[in-house]
Amino acid sequence: MAQPDNYEAGCREKCSHASIHSRIQQAAYYQYPSMDKYDVKYLKLDLSVEAGSTFISGTALTRAKVLQPLDSFNIELRNNMVVDSVYINGVRKNFQRGIDYVFVPLSPSLPAGSTVSALFYYRGTATTGVYAGTNGSNDLIYTATLSESYQAREWFPAKQILQDKIDSADIWIKTSSSYKVGSNGLLVAVVDSPNNKKQYQWKTRYPMNYYMPSIAIGNYREYLNYAKPAAMAPDSVLIQHYIVDDNAYFNSVKPNLDKTPAFIEKYSELFGLYPFKDEKYGHCHAYIGGGMEHQTMSTMSSFGSTIIAHELGHQWWGDRVTCASWNHIWLNEGFASYCEYLAIENLPALFPTITAAAYMQGVHSNVLSSAGGSVYVPDASLFDENRIFSGRLSYNKGSAIIHTLRFEMQDDNLFFQTLKNYQQQFKDSVATADDFKQVAEVTSGKNFTDFFNQWYYGEGYPTFNITYLMQGTDSIILIVNQAASAPGITPFFKGLYEFTITSAQGDTTVKAYISSNDQFIKFKYSKTPNGIVVDPNNWVLNVTGTITNGGVIVPLRLISFDAAISNCTASLKWRTSDEQQTKQYEIEYSMDGNDFIKAAAILSHKSTAETFYQYNYPVVTGSIHAFRLKVINADGSYVYSQAISLNEKCKASFALSIAPNPLSAELALRIMQPLPGNTIITIMDPAGAIIYRTIKKMAAGTNNLQLDVIKKYPAGVYILKVKSDREVITQRFIKL
Ligand SMILES: [Zn+2]
Repeated sequence: MAQPDNYEAGCREKCSHASIHSRIQQAAYYQYPSMDKYDVKYLKLDLSVEAGSTFISGTALTRAKVLQPLDSFNIELRNNMVVDSVYINGVRKNFQRGIDYVFVPLSPSLPAGSTVSALFYYRGTATTGVYAGTNGSNDLIYTATLSESYQAREWFPAKQILQDKIDSADIWIKTSSSYKVGSNGLLVAVVDSPNNKKQYQWKTRYPMNYYMPSIAIGNYREYLNYAKPAAMAPDSVLIQHYIVDDNAYFNSVKPNLDKTPAFIEKYSELFGLYPFKDEKYGHCHAYIGGGMEHQTMSTMSSFGSTIIAHELGHQWWGDRVTCASWNHIWLNEGFASYCEYLAIENLPALFPTITAAAYMQGVHSNVLSSAGGSVYVPDASLFDENRIFSGRLSYNKGSAIIHTLRFEMQDDNLFFQTLKNYQQQFKDSVATADDFKQVAEVTSGKNFTDFFNQWYYGEGYPTFNITYLMQGTDSIILIVNQAASAPGITPFFKGLYEFTITSAQGDTTVKAYISSNDQFIKFKYSKTPNGIVVDPNNWVLNVTGTITNGGVIVPLRLISFDAAISNCTASLKWRTSDEQQTKQYEIEYSMDGNDFIKAAAILSHKSTAETFYQYNYPVVTGSIHAFRLKVINADGSYVYSQAISLNEKCKASFALSIAPNPLSAELALRIMQPLPGNTIITIMDPAGAIIYRTIKKMAAGTNNLQLDVIKKYPAGVYILKVKSDREVITQRFIKL
């Protein structure tokens, strides 16, 4: 569904749907589970209807396959339609009426696998679902149906369950010969009838949803176009327009009607060939409060270029593949709305008054006019048509997030391949957003779990606050902060974002994946920046908060780094300035000048002025002592100072004890290590032969070990040798 394209952003929801739905009397919407016992195969409507009236009379035949034994046939029909008689498989039956259904007991039951044909003779005046009137400015007298979402049963017996498509249908309408009737599929015949009437006989053999059968009757003229999608050359698709027979009105809309072939050809390229090519596409003119994408024949209150693009888009998005439940109306309305964008983007010459960028900007401003709301329709709103057809959420936010998904893919081939694959996989059927997500993930190889949680099931949008600083003369740092508009539901919006760094020397656009708050992103950049534009191309719903120029930061200056040693205590001293971007200093120590370990960490004062640091480090052992400084920046990057090597022989605290000694079972030893490291343990027998050797990773300090290897050796005096990186201790022990 859509509204004329001359709406102001934000008006679509309030104006269009309020006007449509104010006419829908609030009724309880029941979907009777017993209808799941049959699968609708065929529908034939044979009705008499006059333009300007919502009175309907005639017959409706539903043919279905019985899936489970059927002890009654149940179907929905509002009780303002009087049912005169019901025939099941040709036999007249008694029936019962509810407020919105017809119940036909069957005895005996029909077995599973059999066919049930239910023929209803009925008549009545529809109060919703059918629109009739006369237009003052162009003298159109019309009657037209609009069954989405629960109004099919207002005018014909219907099984209002999305999963069960009607496999084929014939729709025959008798009306006064001054009118024409548009409907689904192909017009097979127009048959003269008594009393100056004609019967229009339409036939469709494509599966369609229960809300797709439609009729539109009016004082129409017929106007034809032909679309020539490349994939079916040299054949073409018939486009049949039924427009009020009024020259001035017709001439005013003809230029836009003539755009329809180009739209069909373009969408056939982007999504796959027009789904109903063997029948037609068309428009019927009637005032139903907007447009409605009836399969192969959209009903239109107006003929703006974007509404034509929208309803046509639905032929793929909603008609051929239908949302599996109204929770996922995004798959119909989000995509049909995005079809408007795609038409403008791909066929700019047909949209002289709007650019694709300006169009998307309008979509964004409407979505951002409120803080919350998900694209996904929660269960609590499944019978609230104003929520299902929310212009801001289902249409505009739905469209905007498809654009974001396209940006996340960073590859239009993959994006459009995703759309084609989804169409192929779910054609003539129904789908959920998770089905679409899976196709997108399989096609692109990317994971869209965060994307759907944030943008589809989640609510709100981020507001970006950014500080930018030059680091030296060749780098720029952006410190990116975001605040969510509905943080209790969606606290953060991870994803790819564009930032334009503006400068008198020319703008530069960079991209970064933002995954956490106050993230530092650093780029090579050597101009003088004067601002940041967040998401300059409106790929992602967001708002810009504050942009702060942090000025130029000079990378840390390490003025000096000195080390001295005395009494086995090293004294480390360093001087710095311009350390605003320095997070901390780490002192690293090595006993050989090669393998450094972290010995201490000291936080930066973040001072611009000259700053002095000192740290004393007790050295335990060895005679070579090398030190260096690791300077860690706020963005996680780091640099090292030069290493300084000192010499002083320090007492070893490396020690070994064996207890008990002598021993009769296990060898229990205690090794004291000044530093962590690998220690080699060797045992030699009384003859000096090595009987055991192992390497153990030791912690600094006391290490207790139990070795049972000695158990199996005879009594005697053995030698234990323990060797650390730099020292060896040898000790005897006695095996009893
Ligand atoms: Zn729509």
